[in-house]
Amino acid sequence: MQDIRSLTREELQAELAAWGEPAYRTDQVLGWLYRHYAADWSAMSNLPLALRDRLHQRFALAPLELVRVQGAADETRKFLWRLADGALIESVLIPANPALYGEPSDRHTLCVSTQVGCAYGCRFCASGLAGWKRNLLPHEIVDQVTAVERWHRSLTGTKPPGRLVDNLVIMGMGEPLANYDNLMRALRILNAPWGAGIGARRITISTSGLVPGIRKLADEPEQFRLAISLHGATDEVRDRLMPVNRKYPLADLVAALEYYQQRKGRMLTFEYILISGINDGLDQVPPLAALARRLHAKVNLIPYNPVQGLPWQRPDPAHCERFLLALRRAGIPATLRREKGTDIDAACGQLRLRTLQELDAAPASGPAPPAGGPAESGI
Ligand code: SAH
Ligand code: SF4
Repeated sequence: MQDIRSLTREELQAELAAWGEPAYRTDQVLGWLYRHYAADWSAMSNLPLALRDRLHQRFALAPLELVRVQGAADETRKFLWRLADGALIESVLIPANPALYGEPSDRHTLCVSTQVGCAYGCRFCASGLAGWKRNLLPHEIVDQVTAVERWHRSLTGTKPPGRLVDNLVIMGMGEPLANYDNLMRALRILNAPWGAGIGARRITISTSGLVPGIRKLADEPEQFRLAISLHGATDEVRDRLMPVNRKYPLADLVAALEYYQQRKGRMLTFEYILISGINDGLDQVPPLAALARRLHAKVNLIPYNPVQGLPWQRPDPAHCERFLLALRRAGIPATLRREKGTDIDAACGQLRLRTLQELDAAPASGPAPPAGGPAESGI
């Protein structure tokens, strides 16, 4: 059965009109879904019982089940969710201004997943390790945001329309552009004023470089931001890290990004993980700077977050700073992530991987995944 949170306002309106409902019912239902974050039909107290019953017959409304919340010292929170079919996915909540001096941090970015696992098998990535299981449905993407809002309200007692999440990065598990249609539908719901109301310019899609998807995105009307997981500035380095580069080598990727910029006229971001001895040599700075200059891209350097079972390491902090400085000297706007959330496996796919490993290691009869409601660990 289709989940009601996969519908656009127009689709819901058409359905309710076909049932002979007055037009204002559409906004009442949407209000319950995206202002009150209702988790079941019975909460929708201003709808007639007969309508609630009919909605219940016609649509699913199955919120993500919270399995774990992990906290890091900087207030980053990592959520592990169980989907209706038992699959596990994760989202990470990152405060924009970590409360270093005890002040409240008011802006929050949520990193959301788009697939269960990932088929692209980047050598350094936890999400690719267990392979690809399936695409997330639109409501499973949407509900990562609404379930976090629901969680926040239940903790703080915040009343509508108070919201926590005002930025999205599509950088969780999975390759977003490989689940293009479901992603677009979800982002339109999250972007809409009747939905989660998150501005398109506050939504960043990260891709490992799927050329056809980038070209398609360039032709969409919305001004979503684009981040490219580059990680190598030459085909030689990129081929070693990312199998996708064999299908779409740098020349094709650059051409697609130039097209994207012609259409959108916007600045791109390159994500560049620094992995010790693999792509962090200072000899990589000139080719990286050349690509960034050509595409007017800013570079976001990220020290590698080690993944259990993989041999890769992060360079020492002094070396990361040297790489940053060299890039800046070459005239490239660059930042170095002095990372948030490393202590909670915040890189993509890591919490899920660890939970799956723990489950594999457990005897067949249990212990079960944290039962009796969500467990909070960390601080
Ligand atoms: N599939 C998309 C989006 C999800 S990955 C993509 O590849 O862009 C989100 C980001 O996390 C990517 O830049 C990815 O390269 C990075 N990443 C994956 N594993 C990591 C790790 N162990 N440490 C640091 N960054 C990692
Ligand atoms: Fe997939 Fe992105 Fe991980 Fe590569 S980095 S395996 S594309 S999730």
